[in-house]
This record gives sequence, structure tokens and C-alpha cells, in this order.
Amino acid sequence: MDNKIEECVNVSLRIRPVISQDSTTSSCLHVISKRPPVLLVLDRSQTYCFDNIFTEEVDQATVYNETVKPLVEYVKSGYSCTVFAYGQTGTGKTYTMGTSTRVESEKDGLIPRAIDQCFAHYDEDAEISISVSFIEIYNEKVFDLLQNDNPPLIVKGFKVQGFNEEKIFNCHEAKRFLEMGNRNRHTAGTKQNSNSSRSHAIFTIYCNVRYQDRETTAKLNLVDLAGCESVKKTGNQGSTFQEGININKGLLCIGQVMTALSTNSSFIPYRQSIITTILQDSLNKKNFVSLIACVNSSPEDCNETIQTLEFAHRVK
Ligand code: ADP
Ligand code: MG
Repeated sequence: MDNKIEECVNVSLRIRPVISQDSTTSSCLHVISKRPPVLLVLDRSQTYCFDNIFTEEVDQATVYNETVKPLVEYVKSGYSCTVFAYGQTGTGKTYTMGTSTRVESEKDGLIPRAIDQCFAHYDEDAEISISVSFIEIYNEKVFDLLQNDNPPLIVKGFKVQGFNEEKIFNCHEAKRFLEMGNRNRHTAGTKQNSNSSRSHAIFTIYCNVRYQDRETTAKLNLVDLAGCESVKKTGNQGSTFQEGININKGLLCIGQVMTALSTNSSFIPYRQSIITTILQDSLNKKNFVSLIACVNSSPEDCNETIQTLEFAHRVK
């Protein structure tokens, strides 16, 4: 039986395994209950509860099955959905999302798996057409990652104008667009990580399904968010400092919109950042939103990890 997501906002935690660059193998996180999933932060004796907790050994297929798979079925039936990967730089957002595609297929992240599922198991009476777009928000400006020489795009109301939406016929073609988009992403060295992503990347799959008597159109937004590390810790100045402020503003606003959705608030503060403005049509009570908070378990990063846990906890 397939998983179903009942609530509008779903929050998961993913703990990254130790990798060769890590300076320690000790952990500040401990899962004390699987059902319901409860996490204990050692030293602080603080606990957090989420819809899912994916510990170090959990593979990409499982993360996909528990988070995005049910959403793809909603998209096929006409409900737009959004998935966010949130966390400090180096915690596995890009790996989880599959935004960067140089990995073998069993390590494919959420994006290629979602595309595969869009094409799979189609009702014989239905005709499907799928297209994709890949945009980036950098310093509160929107860029088309599928255009090589890309000036900022104009946003009118909550609609971005003039970006490419490419029709695809198989997953392989989608991967080509992912690769192309990745080459066009903004990255700048910070103290934290020499190749840190300072922008939010939004890969969108548009799914149109035609039956004899009806038609549905919906989209799935897969968002690889910029790193949430504090401006102070990364030691940024000048323009990089402003970047940091804009990143934090966007992340804060996503948190506020998700909290408003999960608490049934009548006011949803879309307009305070560009990312929530342009995702407005997919972020409401009729749609489904999933946040995957990524952390690593190293005691050195415990403060950043707690900030991520607090953020993820607040949005639910
Ligand atoms: P972020 O996008 O959050 O900055 P990355 O996705 O680039 O982080 O991950 C940092 C490093 O950790 C990469 O080398 C990545 O391949 C590795 N990594 C992240 N998550 C996992 C995982 N679940 N299993 C194996 N390696 C991972
Ligand atoms: Mg990344």
C-alpha cells in the first residue's frame, strides 16, 4: 500500500552520514523512539518530534518513498506540491534533492526519481505531457538556469516572466536540463565551505494529464535552499554579507508561510520575500508541502543543528 500524506505540511529530518572530510565520528544526535520519531540532542537533553526521521543509513529510495512519492501522485491528480531541502551548507541538501546529477542511479536524489514516477504507470486512457523549468533566486532576484546568459527576470504579481519551460519525453532529457542549470548556478566561496550554494534553486516539473472527459495540470516544485548558516559564522562582509541577509530573509519567510499553513492561519505572509511570492500559487491549504531538514550529527556543528531543528519544529 502506498504512503499517503494526510496533512498539508509534512516535516522530515535527515541526518547525513559521516563522510571522509569530517573531522569527527562522534554524534550529538540520538533517535530515542522510531514511532513516533523522536530525536534527542545529547548534552542539551532536548527532544524533537518530526513526521519522519531518516538516520544515517537510510538510502535515497527510502527518503523518496516516504516524502515525495505520495506527492507525485497528488500532482498527477491536479494538486501542486512543493518540497524544500533546508539546512546548513554541507548537510546533504543537494545530495538529497538530486540537483547535481553526477551520481549513479541508486544514489539518484528526489528530482530524477520524481521525474521517473511522472512517466511511470500511466492510465492507458490518459495522455500525459511533462515539462520542466529550473530557476534560481540569488540576492532576491530570479534567474533562469536554462538560459546561459541570464539577466534577472521580471516578476509581475506572483508570476515570473520569460523563463524557459522545456518539454521532456524521458528522464534522461530532464537530467540534461539539470546539468545545464547546475553549470549556471551562483556559488561563492565562504569560510564555511569553498563551494557553498548561496542561492535557492527551484526545479519545477509541470504535469499535464488529459483524459477523454477531463484534464488536470499541476506542478511539483523541488527546492534546494541556500545554506542556513548564520551570517556571523561564515565571516562574510560586503556583498556576501548582503547575500547572507537576503538568504536568511527568504528562509525566515518560508518558515512563516509554512507555520501559517499548518496552523490554519487566515493570513499567509507570502509577500515578504521573493521565494514565497513566486511559490504562492503552490503554497496554500489545497496543496501539499514537504520540508526535509538536513543536519549532520557532529558535536562541532551542534549549534547550527539546533537552529535547523528549531526551524523544522516551528513550521509544523
Ligand atoms: P549541501 O547541499 O547541503 O551543502 P551536499 O549535498 O553538497 O550538501 O553534501 C555534502 C557532501 O556530503 C557531499 O559530498 C555529498 O555527496 C555528501 N553526502 C550528503 N548526504 C549524503 C548521504 N546521505 N550519503 C552519502 N553522502 C552524502
Ligand atoms: Mg548544496
